[in-house]
Amino acid sequence: MYYGEKRVENPIRWAMVGGGKGSQIGYIHRSSALRDYNFDLVAGAFDIDPVRGQEFGASLNVAPERCYSDYKTMFAAEAEREDGIQAVSIATPNFTHFEIAKAALQAGLHVYCEKPMCFSTAEAEELEALVKQTGKIMFVSYGYAGHQMIEQARQMIAKGELGKIRIVNMQFAHGFHNVAVEKNAASTAWRVDPKKAGPSYVLGDVGTHPLFLSEAMLPDLKIKRLMCSKQAFVESRKPLEDNAMTIMEYDNGAVGYLWSSCVNAGAMFGHKIRVVGELASVEWNAEFPNQLLYEVQGEPQHVLHRDMGYLTPQAVADDRIGAGHPEGLFEAWSNLYGRFAMAIEKTEKGETIDFWYPGVHAGVLGVKWVDKCVESAEQGAAWVDYE
Ligand code: NAD
Repeated sequence: MYYGEKRVENPIRWAMVGGGKGSQIGYIHRSSALRDYNFDLVAGAFDIDPVRGQEFGASLNVAPERCYSDYKTMFAAEAEREDGIQAVSIATPNFTHFEIAKAALQAGLHVYCEKPMCFSTAEAEELEALVKQTGKIMFVSYGYAGHQMIEQARQMIAKGELGKIRIVNMQFAHGFHNVAVEKNAASTAWRVDPKKAGPSYVLGDVGTHPLFLSEAMLPDLKIKRLMCSKQAFVESRKPLEDNAMTIMEYDNGAVGYLWSSCVNAGAMFGHKIRVVGELASVEWNAEFPNQLLYEVQGEPQHVLHRDMGYLTPQAVADDRIGAGHPEGLFEAWSNLYGRFAMAIEKTEKGETIDFWYPGVHAGVLGVKWVDKCVESAEQGAAWVDYE
């Protein structure tokens, strides 16, 4: 159980690029990073519009001289200060992630980057090489992985409680964009513009989330080959897709299915993962994140609940409020931001990091998966080798 104790000796001096007024994801970054006293928000280039960004930064109590017009000015000016920033979160549209993350690493900063990390596998591998070269920490914002029941599933699978894994069934298929909502919503418009969203819409925007959950639960599973069929049911979204189905074969003989969609009309969220072994299955649904289904063939269904004594210690370590009280996405993100702070501190002290997190390699895998899905779909859903 976590009672809000300090996780690092000194709060990390932290800034944001993007996440400005009215942005969809900026507030959850700030509230998740700041709630546990691990970070101080001391600077920012919050908005593509410099004036709006500076006004917004001031409203967050960031010193006016540290509310910058753009990220380049911020990285240069902060590098001159003794109390300059140590870490930055990037919460801007997809097409800017690569250049901002690269500049941040080159400026000696630790990075927490929104997904997808960039557009191509080559760019992703360049960032991974830069992380190795600079020795900095890079997280990719797969926030759902911070839910405790993901850790519980990981531990149960590692202990062999499901037996040999056969099937991973994933989906993130919501219905909120079943019509062309982007015509009236700026934050959806860039998502269907290939120049700003990259080579895909739903594969990168939603599909990479359950993909990372599968990597967190099954760290040893490697994709051998995949095939993908994608469609734009709203014609104006072409050449990007609003629906896609990917079938994957893993190197141990298991198979995976991942449905990515924003046209699953009527679905509130549709984000879940089911891992099927030869003896039993676990299933986690983001709409009921405090529970994990554990189904053993021939037994009644078990519904495991957060913060109960029968869970593994690793799963309850991040628990913030007693069993029965619901926790949600803000807590999950805070758990990951806590690990970001601890990873930075350990790196700066030269200590070993003894916990997992969605790092730069997870970013590479997500970008590569999207690349491969698009390659397959463009060849008429052909099987493509992963390596
Ligand atoms: P948004 O369009 O609502 O907001 C983007 C913000 O970035 C705005 O404040 C904009 O002014 C600012 N911005 C744009 N370019 C900038 C630049 N060059 N410098 C500084 N600021 C700039 O977008 P959003 O929905 O908040 O999405 C942002 C990112 O977060 C995207 O990459 C998206 O995929 C990701 N996202 C992740 C999750 C998740 O669960 N991890 C959820 C939603 C969005």
